[in-house]
Amino acid sequence: MSTGRPCRAIFAVLAAAAVLAADALGALKISPKYKSPRNGERDVRKKTSLIVLHTTEAPARSSLNKLSERGEAHFCVVEDGTVYSIIDHNRVAFHAGRSMWCGRRAVDAFSVGIEVVGSHDRPVTMAQIAALRELVASLKRIYRLPDVNVVTHSHVAYAAPNKWHKKASRGRKRCGMLFATPTVRRLLGLKTRPAFDPDVKARRLVNADPGLSRVLYGPSDFMRSSYAAAAKAAPARPAANNFWRRAGGAPAAKPAPKPAAKPAAKPAAKPAAPAAPAKPANPAVPASARPAQTPGFVRGRRVHVPPPAADAVPEGLYTIGKGGGSLASVARGMASSPYTVWILPDGAWGTGDRLRADAPLPEGTRVLVGYVAAGQVGPKRSAVNICGAKWRSPETWYFHGTTLVSGDRIDDKSIRRGTMIFVRK
Ligand SMILES: [Zn+2]
Repeated sequence: MSTGRPCRAIFAVLAAAAVLAADALGALKISPKYKSPRNGERDVRKKTSLIVLHTTEAPARSSLNKLSERGEAHFCVVEDGTVYSIIDHNRVAFHAGRSMWCGRRAVDAFSVGIEVVGSHDRPVTMAQIAALRELVASLKRIYRLPDVNVVTHSHVAYAAPNKWHKKASRGRKRCGMLFATPTVRRLLGLKTRPAFDPDVKARRLVNADPGLSRVLYGPSDFMRSSYAAAAKAAPARPAANNFWRRAGGAPAAKPAPKPAAKPAAKPAAKPAAPAAPAKPANPAVPASARPAQTPGFVRGRRVHVPPPAADAVPEGLYTIGKGGGSLASVARGMASSPYTVWILPDGAWGTGDRLRADAPLPEGTRVLVGYVAAGQVGPKRSAVNICGAKWRSPETWYFHGTTLVSGDRIDDKSIRRGTMIFVRK
């Protein structure tokens, strides 16, 4: 699962491949429903040497709307395996932000970005795995990219120098992290991954998130148990799958290596018709009523991915509206969890296991679902000491008095002593 030469591989790519037209994917089944209104104004990329995988960290509908509105990805893969085209894959999409790989900054200029609806540290559905596998395989063919050039946003994002790191640092994002694990790469049909961080190795960057680098490059394979059965059943080659139908005459890059003769089991049921609108999993629908592609089922066989609880709600910040409510009214199945944090309008706060789920709470009560109190800022305890690279994540919350500010909005000079930091568990 590793190769020692990410840089050599990246530059071995022919820039000429980039001129292969969008027609190459025209033959593939994707939905144009969320095509970005910005598509036409985006430049055609001069070269393409990376495929960057992201996780949206937000539900499908809101992710698709935002990605489309801002032109922030080339594709988005939703839970049922439907693939939406946002920006033509040969044009520039703004998906990687401040980024560097092998000393080259602004990764948007030479990469394709794929958003997968889900969280960086949770299993995505098998329908997403199947669709992503096909999409990545097609893009690799079109742009003639080796497996090692399929990376995650967390590989390439970096932070500018700040008061904790005088040098620019890796670890700004954990986005897409699961796609770097050996188990998930195997499911995606990727045989290699970068063996080290080329920019940290060359001292262009310092490593600000050792936990992340253990996942990206080390032995940590935290997705193994989630996909245990599926990984075992994973075919050694792309499954015969008509999800992507190539039209005759589609530019054929290097012929794919002949697959093993043994027909492999499909990793998942055929995704639903790609033209169907996105159907974000409705938390109110019982698990049994959901399509079989949700995690937990592979062609009728149970795998070790627990289906989401019927009343699970996405992690994040909720505010109790007019007339008040209760923890149960916003956090539902997570109401009594120690990972649910409630903050009353007067600043008192606690966790879900310390309050009755149906206790009445006033309007304006904020509820963080899926969070833990990471610690309080003190004279010798900075935000970075407390939560590492997450300190400036939009998902990290700083709480002082009655004010709650997200990590991407916090002014590092204004973090006051006694500020409590809540991070995603
Ligand atoms: Zn990302």
